[in-house]
Amino acid sequence: MRPTPKCVTLIAQQPRSRSREEGDEALKFNRFPARHMSAVWKCVLATGFVGVFADTAAAQTSGFYYQNTISHFWLLMIAIGAAFWLAGLSWIGRDAEPVREPVGLWTLLFFSVGVFSWCVAWLVRFPILSAIIYMTLVGGTYFLYVAIRNAKVVYEDKVWTSHHLYGVYRDALSAMGVRAYTKAAEGKSKRETTQVPVALVGHDGSRQEAEGDTRGGSALQAVKYLVYEAVQNRVTDIHLEPKGSSVAVRYRIDGILHNTEPLPKDLGNSAISAIKVLGAMDISEKRRPQDGSFSAELPGKIIDLRVATNPSVQGERMMMRLLDRTQGLIAMENLGLTKRMQDEMGKFAASPNGMLIATGPTGHGKTTSLYALLNRIDAFQRNIVTVEDPIEYHLDNISQTPINVKAGITFAGTLRSMLRQDPDVILIGEIRDSETATIAMQAAMTGHLVITTIHTPDASSAVFRLLDLGIEPYLISSAVTHVTSQRLVRVLCNNCKAPYRPNKSFLEKAGLPADKIEVLYKSVGCERCQGTGFYGRIGVFELLVMNDELRDIIKTNPSVTEVYRAARKTGMRTLEEDGLLKVARGITSVKELLRVTRGEKTQAAGNSQQEGD
Ligand SMILES: [Zn+2]
Repeated sequence: MRPTPKCVTLIAQQPRSRSREEGDEALKFNRFPARHMSAVWKCVLATGFVGVFADTAAAQTSGFYYQNTISHFWLLMIAIGAAFWLAGLSWIGRDAEPVREPVGLWTLLFFSVGVFSWCVAWLVRFPILSAIIYMTLVGGTYFLYVAIRNAKVVYEDKVWTSHHLYGVYRDALSAMGVRAYTKAAEGKSKRETTQVPVALVGHDGSRQEAEGDTRGGSALQAVKYLVYEAVQNRVTDIHLEPKGSSVAVRYRIDGILHNTEPLPKDLGNSAISAIKVLGAMDISEKRRPQDGSFSAELPGKIIDLRVATNPSVQGERMMMRLLDRTQGLIAMENLGLTKRMQDEMGKFAASPNGMLIATGPTGHGKTTSLYALLNRIDAFQRNIVTVEDPIEYHLDNISQTPINVKAGITFAGTLRSMLRQDPDVILIGEIRDSETATIAMQAAMTGHLVITTIHTPDASSAVFRLLDLGIEPYLISSAVTHVTSQRLVRVLCNNCKAPYRPNKSFLEKAGLPADKIEVLYKSVGCERCQGTGFYGRIGVFELLVMNDELRDIIKTNPSVTEVYRAARKTGMRTLEEDGLLKVARGITSVKELLRVTRGEKTQAAGNSQQEGD
């Protein structure tokens, strides 16, 4: 453990007038400048060293120091140059790892360029020329690093942007005890004062009425406004992240995180506390991740909010996932399935037994598709049960059970007791362990229709995931009848999408009929789509239908390539092929499809800690 720097101890000892909680905040906040102290000291020492060296060397060398004496101005310039180099070196050392750049390589490069530049500058006769050479080489390397790391991170983590510089200025002011005014802090934020038709219902059933209810003050008002704003903008997740002197608010719309106006630090922190109270979470616990939930009532809508917190260096981060309880199911015709896939799914829904596994990453609409399928099954004629974590859609005439691992209600346990209720159709939220997998397989083989999900990238690998879980090959080959894989791609905004003439060779490479396709579309951005160029999402699918050849391969000698080859023989289209058909029809763009299928994930998407689907 590193010893606590002195300044932190001092700050920690002085919270006399503050409550304990605020003392904690101050501690976290001030640790930042403290961490930079070591870099500052290094720079001061190095500057002194360079100064002394320059003075003694001045008399003997023949280059820059030929003049025998060195003016104070150039001594200062040397100090600044050295400080910049060392501060840069120290920053790159700390920054490279989180942005996944090779730390050693960059440190070595920046160090060597620095040493080289010092030598060159030393030998050149003219101080101005020395300064120019030095700044070009050292500054060039530095900004090359900045450009490369900036390209990899989301806007608000970029450095040397106006946003970043303003943040540095604001933090510097705060560190000096000056209250910095941000746009959001001028007077009161609209989120704090505007009355919105939102009633909050806590986990324990306590109600916070929509209008005129001022209990809880501005923090709860802000929470209501956030929920309201989110629902208006088709937001699926709200992220609250403490950053310096504010709390960043980010909304996930169509799968992509967007920054919005931040909350002032005080209001943001009290909003986070208010949400923890609503979600029946431990308000004093800030160092361990926690889960909770509450709901919000809007005119004609009930929104369930699943809350998760996560500690971070800057404070407690909070993620909320919004689930519209009143939202209707999407019809199978609107999911994005081709006619052939719809027919196959319809056949599955009508059969008495079998097992359909939906695969794909979280947040890509597996549950929505499974419910569309479930909705095809006559709930009056057949007994449908579900076991889920959490329940995302509420359906009439079926029995839905939520999982609560903490309370000992597991998938496997619930499934066992459910099988005693003689169900015809069973939906299992997710297969995560071999026990659940085994029960599901056996149910599928004993006259039940089983629908479930597995977390794998494509349809063929679901088989191997099951083998990894220790399921016998013969069980897999006899139980599983259909495997789907899906991704959600954003749909081009109809208001602003722009046609262009595609390159012939591109079309040929993509396997599209080059002579038939005149135009493709790309995203532009307008007011309707808030400048993103996209509005809503649609699925692209891969559907593997089990046949005898596939069953034999799985039973005898399953290998990824063999399964894939046999599946292709059945006419399975890959995700990308299915997506290209949607590109050809102008539903989405090539770029968007590649972003989703080739996993060119934006950093923003990777940041999310809590994503359901
Ligand atoms: Zn648009």
